[in-house]
Amino acid sequence: MTEPIVFHWHRAAITAIAPVTPHVTSVRLRCPLAESYRAGQHVDVRLTAEDGYQAQRSYSVASAQDGSGTLELLIEGLPDGEVSGWFTGVAAVGDQVELRGPIGGSFSWDGPDGGPLLLGGGGSGVVPLLAMLRRRAQGWREIPAALIYSVRTRAEAIALPELERLAAEDPGFSLHLATTRDPGGKRIDAGLVAEALRRTGPPGKVFLCGSNRFVAAASDLIMAAGVAPGVIRTERFGA
Ligand SMILES: Cc1cc2nc3c(=O)[nH]c(=O)nc-3n(C[C@H](O)[C@H](O)[C@H](O)COP(=O)(O)OP(=O)(O)OC[C@H]3O[C@@H](n4cnc5c(N)ncnc54)[C@H](O)[C@@H]3O)c2cc1C
Repeated sequence: MTEPIVFHWHRAAITAIAPVTPHVTSVRLRCPLAESYRAGQHVDVRLTAEDGYQAQRSYSVASAQDGSGTLELLIEGLPDGEVSGWFTGVAAVGDQVELRGPIGGSFSWDGPDGGPLLLGGGGSGVVPLLAMLRRRAQGWREIPAALIYSVRTRAEAIALPELERLAAEDPGFSLHLATTRDPGGKRIDAGLVAEALRRTGPPGKVFLCGSNRFVAAASDLIMAAGVAPGVIRTERFGA
């Protein structure tokens, strides 16, 4: 019998915090876990109030390992969200939280795993995919990659300048944005998936992350386009 993996809680201090879109805040944390995760994995975050009350949620790591001893989370503030509300409205540099992980080995990628990579993110579900693209940019640009990104409006798209810059300067990467609430916007559809597949060729790895609804729609479209279900990995963020 294999032993279950036991994750220990590590202390983590906020070293930088800043809004990146109207609803999403970037939080950089100094923590030993920053040296030991793969792109796409997530961590559990635990907050403890002065009276001992604790709240715990999962967040994907947005950064690729960079030797700085820190990692980045990108947290979307939800209305009345207990943990996301604290990060987006209350937290400050120097505050301490606890992290454990990294979790989610099957939803992770590194250069030697190969490609081509077809990535699909809905809303904040783009975060683990951003980590994969940042890892790819560190030395694996020969692996073709496409990101299908569904988001309400351009203003709410996470890391859009970084993604558009990468798409402009890197012929091996293409960005396929579907804005659902901008004027003339649309949901992801067969045409968008076909365009992404035309750029990557048959994908060796497909990673899809977002709400249940987004992940179900994206997997259906990608399988209908002829991609084998066995190469598709999914992660659901909840509601
Ligand atoms: C593997 C994994 C990775 C995740 N990575 C990220 C990430 O990188 N960035 C990020 O912002 N979030 C991420 N999440 C979601 C995160 O864990 C929390 O669910 C989210 O921040 C809400 O927590 P809260 O305490 O603020 O809200 P709560 O106080 O728990 O809930 C507040 C309200 O929001 C609703 N709600 C709860 N969760 C969601 C959700 N995910 N989407 C929409 N509505 C919701 C509840 O039904 C409730 O009405 C991830 C979840 C999983 C499972």
